[in-house]
Amino acid sequence: MVSRVIPVDSFDLVIFGGTGDLARRKILPGLFRRFIAGQMPADARIIGAARSDMDDAAYRAMVEAAIAEFGGQESKDTKTLQAFLERLHYVAIDATGKGGWTQLAAMMRDSVIRAFYFSVAPSLFADLAQRLHQHKIADRESRIVVEKPFGRDLDSARALNEGLAAHFDERQIYRIDHYLGKETVQNLMAVRFGNVLFEPLWNNHYVDHIQITVAETVGVGGRGSYYDKSGAMRDMVQNHLMQLLCLIAMEPPALFGADAVRDEKLKVIRALQPVEPENIVRGQYEAGEDGPDYATDAENPRSTTESFVAMQVEIANWRWAGVPFYLRTGKRMKARSSEIAVVFQDLGHSIFKGDKARHRNMLSIRLQPNEGMDLQVTIKEPGPGGMRLIDVPLDMTFADALGPDAEAVPDAYERLIMDVIRGDQTLFMRGDEVEAAWAWTDPIIHDWETRGDVPKPYEPGSAGPEEAAILMHRDGRRWRDIKG
Ligand code: NAP
Repeated sequence: MVSRVIPVDSFDLVIFGGTGDLARRKILPGLFRRFIAGQMPADARIIGAARSDMDDAAYRAMVEAAIAEFGGQESKDTKTLQAFLERLHYVAIDATGKGGWTQLAAMMRDSVIRAFYFSVAPSLFADLAQRLHQHKIADRESRIVVEKPFGRDLDSARALNEGLAAHFDERQIYRIDHYLGKETVQNLMAVRFGNVLFEPLWNNHYVDHIQITVAETVGVGGRGSYYDKSGAMRDMVQNHLMQLLCLIAMEPPALFGADAVRDEKLKVIRALQPVEPENIVRGQYEAGEDGPDYATDAENPRSTTESFVAMQVEIANWRWAGVPFYLRTGKRMKARSSEIAVVFQDLGHSIFKGDKARHRNMLSIRLQPNEGMDLQVTIKEPGPGGMRLIDVPLDMTFADALGPDAEAVPDAYERLIMDVIRGDQTLFMRGDEVEAAWAWTDPIIHDWETRGDVPKPYEPGSAGPEEAAILMHRDGRRWRDIKG
């Protein structure tokens, strides 16, 4: 198999916050990989913008160091790296000030796509949008890219949307959720809607329940004081887990297009039922051998912010009525693993009388590590001695199935930035989706705050508090093991 790389049209991409952590860690090394792959046209330009005073040469040196630190083996290709660095420029700009804007306006070319990546704090989004408009730097075809967190509740998300909508149409706004750029997440749609096998079973007649797990081994140290104002619900559930839930539960769109897909996702969010307190478990990690407890990491001894949350949610529509969706995410857990598992119902009747075990088909979709899927099927245990049944996975790890092509798969940021240039919004969140997600999340958080809810402690390196296991045990179900 040979991967096809289709170059995008030429562009001027301005990265506001072009000296920041996200730009250095993800955006610029990702663009370099697209340059190597031949997807970034030779005359495309990247313009870093931030308040620090530096010239093009200093910016190029900073980006070279970032690629050496965060890029892979490709950073050793010095000739290509130099060619890439020549595509970079820098302009000193304060998002809230006057200086630099005329200079930026003069740098932009008319003949190419203009894209503006707001890799800065959300409090600067409206200022940037207003100045891009005022200085006529953005035109009707320009695109802007914004990062999470997109608000911390419904009101703040609305305010951000309004700040952008004052100067840009929704079709120009690309709200990044990098989970949507992951290969497996898109494969989820290919598997559901590109095969005859799954869609007829994808409903409450055949599915027993669905589990979504996003587990991390790291704690919040380093960004503890920031995280402490957010917590797992705001930081992970409202965006990443919600997006996975939407893709797994949505109705088939009429076609694979931005608004068709996003309309269906929105319907899922709107069908989500309020969650009762007995269906949620919040947790906070304790101290372990290799690190302090959450409160120490968060620099807040009295913190009641959750570093873990597990919940049972219901989608009230014809397809999913009665099927529980179990979501969990946490820090300092036993392995770094993100997985969606669709667990099918038991057979109504077994003809194998000697076999007392409970066999269930299950489709598991792994986002990390080892992106891939496996389908658990029941077969006869080989050998003599009658009909004994065992469950085996039909494994499709992409790296095994696709060979070198799997390694050529662009990472989420690379893919999403190229989608911005192509003008494809399918894998980006629409404003109404984000607001609907907050409208569902807000009452849950409000309830914790008014009750003064205290998270349950859990051991680092575990699967979260015991109460999370009970959440499923009480329904006769169990969480999948978290395996790295
Ligand atoms: P960061 O390391 O603090 O960088 C912030 C950048 O913004 C710097 O380049 C800074 O440069 C610039 N900046 C700050 N104030 C400015 C102003 N008034 N005008 C113009 N530029 C200004 O932050 P980050 O980690 O890169 O995060 C950027 C955004 O992405 C945040 O909203 C963050 O929540 C989000 N995000 C980050 C990550 C990540 O992995 N880092 C992941 C997901 C989302 P100067 O100080 O020189 O102006």
